[in-house]
Parts: sequence; structure tokens; C-alpha cells
Amino acid sequence: MTNRELYGIGSRTDILHRNVSKFFARWFGPAHVDCPMCGRRCRDGVRTGADLVLCGRCYADIPWIERPQCETCGRSAHCPDCRRGIPRRFVCNRAAVRYSPEMKRWLARYKFRGDERLAALFGWMLKIAFERHYAGLDVSAVAFVPVGAERLLERGFDQTERMAAWFARSAGLPLVSLLVRVRDVGKQSVRTRRERLAVVGGRFAARPDVVLGDRTTSKTRPAVLLVDDVYTTGSTLDECAAAIRARWAVDVYGLTWAR
Ligand SMILES: [Zn+2]
Ligand SMILES: [Zn+2]
Repeated sequence: MTNRELYGIGSRTDILHRNVSKFFARWFGPAHVDCPMCGRRCRDGVRTGADLVLCGRCYADIPWIERPQCETCGRSAHCPDCRRGIPRRFVCNRAAVRYSPEMKRWLARYKFRGDERLAALFGWMLKIAFERHYAGLDVSAVAFVPVGAERLLERGFDQTERMAAWFARSAGLPLVSLLVRVRDVGKQSVRTRRERLAVVGGRFAARPDVVLGDRTTSKTRPAVLLVDDVYTTGSTLDECAAAIRARWAVDVYGLTWAR
């Protein structure tokens, strides 16, 4: 028989018990949790998405991009890539973190080791980047760069879609699947003029069946936020933006996890 049963809820013993528990929770809690990145047991971690707790050391390793040096791609350092003046069909890109060796390990763990629950961590990081770099942007929809059918089969899930979904949900924005990989569409189905137009994006095509809702009330074009894991040369984001804009009258803003 427990103390509660013996003395009844609300008795002095019960109140004492609760106060003692509170005392211990305050000074010795919360309970230890395992850091999803390094596996260390910790209780001083940082709570991220879906109650994943990063240990203090792993959190300190995150090379956040707080002030981008390049207005185009959101890079944190001098950017010779964008200075060459290659025309881009997206407005700009912003990224959560620098693609440091540590971040490469994190992404590999998420993508190749199939650690699917890490989507919440990456989505949480995207949300921080969104609030930091795109405050005030009236976003109509969140889209993502789709994984190819083969990779999807290999990994079992679309890692970019999952992190985008987590981010969109936590930011209260609608997630829409706007793009397909041209290779996956097959030549037969890319027939109509409209669909051919949508393939101006090179490797990507707009989905012919999607109607893009408009949440904005202003006269400016609606903004679509396009999520990808890593911005390397910008060509993927550019091709996707071209495919989207060939079909819908929107402006495309990139939001990548790393740059
Ligand atoms: Zn850790
Ligand atoms: Zn740049």
C-alpha cells in the first residue's frame, strides 16, 4: 500500500511528499536524457523539436548563421559564388547553419543512418533560421526539394520533406508538395504544353495537380518558402524555383538547413 492510499490524498504526509518531490525536481531534475547526437547522458541539455534534448556540448557545436554576409545565398562568409552574378530565379536563400564537418556528420546520421526522429531537430533548426532571417515575410506555403524515387526506396523516407513538415507545422504554415523529379515522372506523362512548360526547371517539374492557395492579402506576389537540406552551388534551388514559377505566379525564397 502506498502512502497516498494509507493516508488519503491531501493529508499532511501527502503534502510533505509533494513538497519533497518538488524540492528534488528543482535541485536535481529534470531526469537524465540521452543526447541524440553523441549519446551522452545529460540533464542540462537544450530542448529541441519533439522533446529531443541536445546535450550542452552538442548544442555549443552548432555553427548558427546569425548574420549572413551574402545577401543572395545567406552564406556567413565572403561569397565568390554569388559575386559572379549568375542570375537566380529565387529571391534569396537563408540557412540555419554553416556546413561544418560536425554538421556534415549530423546530416549523414540523419540521412544515411535513417535516424528519422532527427527530423524534429532539423525542423526545429529551420524554424530558428526562419524566425531569424525571414521575420515579417508573409509566407503562403512551404515547399521542399523532393528526393528521387530511388533514394526514397533506399532510405525509406524523404528526409527533406520530413524536416520541412516539422518546420511548417511548428511555424503554422501549410506544407505543399509542389515538385517532382523529372526522371520519376517518365516521358509519357510529360505531354501537355503546360506540363512541358513546368519542366523548364531542368531536373524538376511542377506537379500539375496542385492548386496553390493564397494566404496573402497584399498586392505583392505570394511567397513560397522552398526547403532543402544543403545549399551548395544554388543550382538545385534555382531549378526548383524555375519549375515553380513556370506554373504559379509566386516569389520563391530558399530556406536551407546548411550553407
Ligand atoms: Zn551531445
Ligand atoms: Zn552567396
